[in-house]
Parts: sequence; C-alpha cells; structure tokens
Amino acid sequence: WQGILKKIDDYRWEIPQNYKTGMKVPGLVYASEPMLSQIWEEHAIEQIANVAFLPGIVGKSMAMPDIHWGYGFPIGGVAATRISDGVISPGGVGFDINCGTRLLRTNLSVREVQPKIDELLAELFAKIPSGVGGSGNIKLSQPDMDSVMTRGGNWALEKGMGESEDISLTEECGSLSGANPDRVSPKAKTRGSSQLGTLGSGNHFLEVQVVAEIFDPEVASVFGVQETGQVLFLIHTGSRGLGHQVCTDYVQLLNETVRKYGINLPDRQLACAPLKSEDGQNYLAAMACASNYAWANRQCITQWARDAFMKVFEKGRQDLGMNQIYDVAHNIAKIEEHMVDGKMQNVCVHRKGATRSFPAGRPEIPAIYRKVGQPVIIPGDMGRYSYVAVGTETAMKETFGSTCHGAGRMLSRSLAKKAASVPQLMENLRAQGISVMAGDIDSLAEEAPEAYKDVADVVEVTHKAGIARNIFKTRPLGVIKG
Ligand code: 5GP
Ligand code: MN
Ligand code: MN
Repeated sequence: WQGILKKIDDYRWEIPQNYKTGMKVPGLVYASEPMLSQIWEEHAIEQIANVAFLPGIVGKSMAMPDIHWGYGFPIGGVAATRISDGVISPGGVGFDINCGTRLLRTNLSVREVQPKIDELLAELFAKIPSGVGGSGNIKLSQPDMDSVMTRGGNWALEKGMGESEDISLTEECGSLSGANPDRVSPKAKTRGSSQLGTLGSGNHFLEVQVVAEIFDPEVASVFGVQETGQVLFLIHTGSRGLGHQVCTDYVQLLNETVRKYGINLPDRQLACAPLKSEDGQNYLAAMACASNYAWANRQCITQWARDAFMKVFEKGRQDLGMNQIYDVAHNIAKIEEHMVDGKMQNVCVHRKGATRSFPAGRPEIPAIYRKVGQPVIIPGDMGRYSYVAVGTETAMKETFGSTCHGAGRMLSRSLAKKAASVPQLMENLRAQGISVMAGDIDSLAEEAPEAYKDVADVVEVTHKAGIARNIFKTRPLGVIKG
C-alpha cells in the first residue's frame, strides 16, 4: 500500500481517484497504519476503488476500520449515490439484509448472573432456535408473511411479541417504508416462512454481557447504563433465508439488466441498477421487505429472551428492567438527507457492515436520545469485549453518518478453523469465565476471538477520527452461537 495510499492523518488514508481509470470519486479508508497491510493483502482496497466506479456516487467510496473482503463491496463499506443519476447495488447491502444488533439492559448485576449463567444459556437455547437453516416455532401463512414484510416490528408487537417501547427504540421504528411483497420471489418467501424468531448460524449470536468500563457516564446513563457490573443482553441476527434469497435473486437479475443501462463495472459482483429505474425500485421494495422481516425477527427473539431471564431469575418484568437500549441495522441501504455539494439533498446510503452513527438533533433519533445522539452498537468477539458508542457531527460531515459495525474478520473461516480446535477454544473461554453454547459446535472455531481483529483497535480509530464517540465497553459472560 506504500506509495499508493495517501496519508491524510493517523486514521485516514485516501485512495487517489487516479488509482484506477474509471473511479468517479476518491476512496477513503479509516484505519491505523498497522491495519493497512491486512486490508491491502486481501484486496479490500481494490474493492473500495471498484465501488468508486458506481454511477452517481458522491463524496468518497469509504471503508471503516473493520473492513475486510466481501461480495462486491468490502464489508465495512459505505457509499452514497445521488437519486437523480445514481445506482443501487445489492452487493452494497449484503446477503444478510438488515443484519443488525439489538442491545437490552437489565437491573441484574454480574454477581447475580454469573452463578446462573449456564442455566440461563440453556433456557435461552431452548427458547430461541438456532443453527444452520434452523426453522422456528412460528409458521407463517402467505398473508402473514406479507404482513411481516410490510410491517416489520409492528407485526410482532401485535402478535404479543415485545413492547411498544422496543419499537420506538429501533432504527426506522422497525419498519422501513416502501416494502412491497410482490417484489419478493416465491422462493424467498418460502425460505422465510419457517424461520421467523430464529438466530441462524455462524456469526450470529446471543450474548449475556457485563458492563466493564464506562467512558462517558452522562451519556451512558441516558442509555440506561448506570454502573460497571450491570448485565446487558445483545442480539445479533438478520433476515435469515429470506434476505439471502432476495439478494441472490436481484444480483442475478441485475447482472442480466446492467448492460441495458450502459453501466460499466470493474467487477460483476457490483451489479446495480439506477435508483430511478424499475429494476432499482423493485430491489429497494424487496430489500425493505427483508429489512422488516429482520426487525420482526429480533423483536420475537427479544420477547423470548425476556421470558428466559424472568424464569431463571424468578423476577417480574418491571423488576428485571430488561428494556431495550437500541436496535440498529448494519447491512442496509437507506434514502437519507445529507449535505452534498453544498446543499441538503436525499441520497441513497449503502451501509454494508457499517452502522448508522447519527448525532444529537437528527429527527430520525428516538426522542430520549435526541440530545446526546444515536447509540452505536459495536460487537467485538466472544472472548474479549464489545463497545457502545454515540453518533457524531463528524460522521454526518464525512461518512454520511456512519461508522464501523464490529471488529471485522481477520482470518477467513477456513484459516480460523485451522488455527483453533473447538475443545481448546471452549477450555480457554471457560478459564476466562465465559460460557458458550452453539447450534453447530463444529463451526465454533470459525468464530474464535483470534478470527477477528481486536475491536479495541477498531474503535480507537473511529473514536479518534471522530466518526463515533466511545461511551462504554462490555465483556462477555455467556454466548450462544448459531
Ligand atoms: P458480521 O455481521 O460482520 O458477521 O459480524 C459483526 C461483528 O460481530 C463482527 O465483525 C465481530 O466483530 C462481532 N462478533 C462476531 N461474533 C461475536 C460474538 O460472539 N460476540 C461478540 N460480542 N461479537 C462478535
Ligand atoms: Mn448476518
Ligand atoms: Mn451482522
């Protein structure tokens, strides 16, 4: 990367527009210098440069410090396109549409939870189905499926899952507008109809965490986090087979139609369509369906997680204090208003393994957070720690209000498997006081802490660059892996 990336400061590296002929804007990577060699070796820089070819791209083709190689776009990628002449690209959203995180707090302390952690995990494991392809407790009829896809979290709420406060503390209030089930294939609907309220496999998890360190007590307190030792619960899952099929269907379709729009791409995986075209609009309508399904999914899981906690700790709902802090998507494209070319205008922001990071004052933020900014949830890995940050003005100015979504993978799944044995991994975690259960125990090694970057390094970059401000840090007590 030496001689190619232009250092702007310790945390910002530019990919000059002349790096590749055809780039419409420069690229920008948020990273520390030691991170650059990995990013370079896995060709993620090339991917950022390729994204800069997209018609109508504005600002810069950006990557957050959790960047790693992905389908078309890198994971950790952020790109905004103009509505008038810009495109939408399914690869810029990802296969797990509206994969995201939901964080709940409790009134429980680590002293109460630690002795019962195995019992708690067993109860969560019993109530929330997980594993590859896993189907769930809910079978959706065709009309129900349509309703989930158009109404998202509100559908779940009406069926008695979750609470209305959860909805108000969810990005888009758990339902993205413009969803049209007619734009979703029968195959996608079939895959989704048995998977609502399931965790899925691999990287998806449920985690019982304890607050380990608070950097900003005032903002933490607005988020309902009062002291170290407080126990939190984190959900990470998305739209399951439905989202995957929607992405597959539209990548295939747009690969066939991209030529008719006269778009030249350096990589087939960037298949896209003009936002104003019928193909583009259809994808957006289908993507909204999958996004809404994901919010309903996390809403159902929230309900069952509360049930499990109430049972194990023999506490009522109020006593337990298991309220939602926030739910945020990290694989999504949204039409949002941003300052571009000196004027506020709507653009389509692709966040692919990137989290919205809106500052105080933005109307999209729940009223109770509007004075401090949006909570940004940044999982790390199952052995070390995770972070919660808050959105900033700098993010608004530089990254279309976005920051990182996690630590980001460092080892491929196959390398991670070679690097760690499952019994050894379980033993190491146990020695640190971390309990683990898995839907698919054999693939646990792919999820070893060493497979990920150190999230502390990642959030040091976003914090110091100012695109999110670190508020507190947690460590895991118990993890259920899909
Ligand atoms: P992704 O959506 O890209 O698969 O994952 C998001 C992030 O979650 C990863 O980059 C990684 O940092 C983090 N992560 C993966 N597994 C775990 C886990 O078991 N616990 C926690 N706290 N974070 C995890
Ligand atoms: Mn996912
Ligand atoms: Mn995810």
